[in-house]
Amino acid sequence: MANPKRRFSQARTSRRFANWKLNLPGISLCPQCKHPRLSHTVCSNCGFYNNKLIISQVTKEFREKRKERKKEEMQRRLGGPPPEEKKKD
Ligand SMILES: [Zn+2]
Repeated sequence: MANPKRRFSQARTSRRFANWKLNLPGISLCPQCKHPRLSHTVCSNCGFYNNKLIISQVTKEFREKRKERKKEEMQRRLGGPPPEEKKKD
């Protein structure tokens, strides 16, 4: 196996890691509702992109409800305690 002839100095290692940084994701305001959103993505608040309605609020509500139902079902299958006990007397 190929191996380096000499070990890298601490200075060289430090110099390499000095240029290793995270950068912020591109965040801009939605022109429709002024809610901050990721650039080039559909607004999560109003569902508009490029002044067109992509995800309607009805679809959004439906998806959220479906997500909740799936979550409850998973908890039921795993045998964990249900989030809210609904009992009818
Ligand atoms: Zn929006």
